[in-house]
Amino acid sequence: VEKILEVNQVKKHFSAGRGQVVQAVDNISFEVYKGETLGLVGESGCGKSTIGRTIIRLYEATEGEIRFKGKTTKDLKGRDLKRFNREMQMIFQDPYASLNPRMTVGDIIAEGLDIHDLAKGRERRKTVVELLRTVGLNEEHADRFPHEFSGGQRQRIGIARALAVDPDFIIADEPISALDVSIQAQVVNLMKKLQREKGLTYLFIAHDLSMVKYISDRVGVMYLGNLVELADSQELYDTPLHPYTEALLSAVPIPDPNNEKRRERIILKGDVPSPINPPSGCRFRTRCPKAMDICANEVPTWQEVRPMHWVSCHLYQEESLKKEEGQ
Ligand code: SF4
Ligand code: MG
Repeated sequence: VEKILEVNQVKKHFSAGRGQVVQAVDNISFEVYKGETLGLVGESGCGKSTIGRTIIRLYEATEGEIRFKGKTTKDLKGRDLKRFNREMQMIFQDPYASLNPRMTVGDIIAEGLDIHDLAKGRERRKTVVELLRTVGLNEEHADRFPHEFSGGQRQRIGIARALAVDPDFIIADEPISALDVSIQAQVVNLMKKLQREKGLTYLFIAHDLSMVKYISDRVGVMYLGNLVELADSQELYDTPLHPYTEALLSAVPIPDPNNEKRRERIILKGDVPSPINPPSGCRFRTRCPKAMDICANEVPTWQEVRPMHWVSCHLYQEESLKKEEGQ
C-alpha cells in the first residue's frame, strides 16, 4: 500500500498569553494510505481539528514533519504550493459559515476553478453543473444563494466546491456533526460513493464513534493533544487496548442487545484537564481507571503492539510493567 500522507512527531502549540502555551497537538505520528479513510475521533478540544488544519497548512507545525506524496510540506513554494493547494482540500463542520452568503452557489463551487485557472466561460458553467449533479443537486441551484438551502444541501455544496479542483486528499472536519441524524447517513454515503468513483483519500474527523466506524478503514483516537490508539476500525471496536478507547466505546450503543460483546459502561471520573498544563507522564492518567505509579512519571511511547495496531499506554510496554513491579 502506498502512503499518501506521513505525520511524524508533529506538535502544534499556541501562545495563550503571559508566557502560557497551549499544547494543542503533541507528538503525533501516523500515516494515511492512498484510497483509504482514516477516521480521527476524540472529544472536543482534543486537538483533532488542529492536526487537520496543520496538515493542510492553515497552521504551521511547531515541531515535526508532514510529508504529502513523499515530499515535506514545510517549504512548499510557487508551483509546488499551488499544486498542493489543489490536491488537498477541506470540508468543514459548518457548511453555512464556510460558504460566502453573497456569492451564488455556482460561483462558490467555481472558486477553485477560477483560482487554479481550470475552466472559463461555458466550460466553467458546464463543470459547475456536473459538480452539482455529482453531489445530488441540479443546474437550477447554481444561481441561488447559500441561505436558500438546507444544512444537508449546504454540505453537498461544500463537497462540490472541494471536488471542483479534482483533489486526491480530503480532510473532512466533522462534516456531519451539525446535520440532523436523518441527513448524516446521506452525506456519508455520498462521500463513500465519491471516494469509490474518484479514488479519494479521506481524513475524517469526528466525535461520533459509530459514524466513524461506518465510514473508516482505520480509526485513530485522540485525547488531550495525543494520539492514543490507532488500528483497523473493526479491530479497534472489537479489541480496544487503550483504557480511554475502552471508555469511549463503552458509551456507544451496540445495535444487537444480545451481542456478547456488549460492554459495561465505563464512566470516567473528572474532566479533561487543560492543554495548558497537561498532566505529567500519561496525559490520561488523572482519569484512567488502570493508572499505575509509572504513568505519572513517564510518557508512554507510541508502539505497534500488534500488526497495524498502535497504542501509547504503559500497560502494553513490558519495560514499563517490569519497572512497575519493581516498585
Ligand atoms: Fe492509563 Fe497508565 Fe495506560 Fe495512561 S499509561 S492509559 S494512565 S494505564
Ligand atoms: Mg473541532
